[in-house]
Formats: sequence, C-alpha cells, structure tokens
Amino acid sequence: MRAADFRLVLAVIERILMEVPTIVVGAGPVGLTAAIELARRGVPVRVIDRLALPTTESRAIGGVPP
Ligand SMILES: Cc1cc2nc3c(=O)[nH]c(=O)nc-3n(C[C@H](O)[C@H](O)[C@H](O)COP(=O)(O)OP(=O)(O)OC[C@H]3O[C@@H](n4cnc5c(N)ncnc54)[C@H](O)[C@@H]3O)c2cc1C
Repeated sequence: MRAADFRLVLAVIERILMEVPTIVVGAGPVGLTAAIELARRGVPVRVIDRLALPTTESRAIGGVPP
C-alpha cells in the first residue's frame, strides 16, 4: 500500500472512531478502564453489561502488585 493510501485509511478510521460510538461490553475493571481511556481521547463510548446492577460480592481479597 502506498504511503498516501495508508494515510487516507488512517484518516477514515480516525473519523469513524470519533463519530461512531464504541460499545464496550462488560463493566468490570478492564471494560471500565477501556471506556475511560477512550473517553479521555474524545471517543464516544457506551458501556453495556449483562447485569442490571453492580454485583454485591466482593472481589477484593488482597492486593497484588502488577
Ligand atoms: C472471589 C474473587 C476475589 C478476587 N480478589 C481479587 C483481589 O483481591 N485482587 C485482585 O487484583 N483481583 C481479584 N480478583 C480478580 C478480579 O476480580 C478480576 O481479575 C477482575 O475482576 C477481572 O476484570 P475483568 O474486567 O476482566 O472481568 P470482570 O470483572 O469479570 O468483568 C466482566 C464484566 O462483563 C460482564 N459480561 C460478561 N459477559 C457478558 C456478556 N456476554 N454481555 C454483557 N456483559 C457481559 C460481566 O457481567 C462483568 O460485569 C478476584 C476475583 C474473584 C472472583
């Protein structure tokens, strides 16, 4: 692919990202982090989860460094 064509493809992808809402499936730590980072970059984002409400169970039983 020529450089000019590549730049055009990138411009089209960027425009789609900025105009079409991105759907993040799953409102766990990974999904919410992805949604926050997209929103910080101005990408419209919608988070959906199969659960209607947050879970009542704790998933924090200890701290593990990354
Ligand atoms: C009992 C327990 C204790 C834990 N303790 C710790 C701890 O102390 N420290 C630690 O660092 N980690 C801990 N973990 C691990 C931590 O919870 C996971 O690593 C973390 O939640 C993973 O995040 P995730 O976003 O990938 O997935 P999840 O947190 O599982 O989130 C996934 C989300 O996607 C939704 N979803 C799934 N399928 C669909 C679908 N088809 N359509 C729509 N929505 C969907 C789910 O409802 C859920 O809300 C624990 C886990 C458990 C189970």
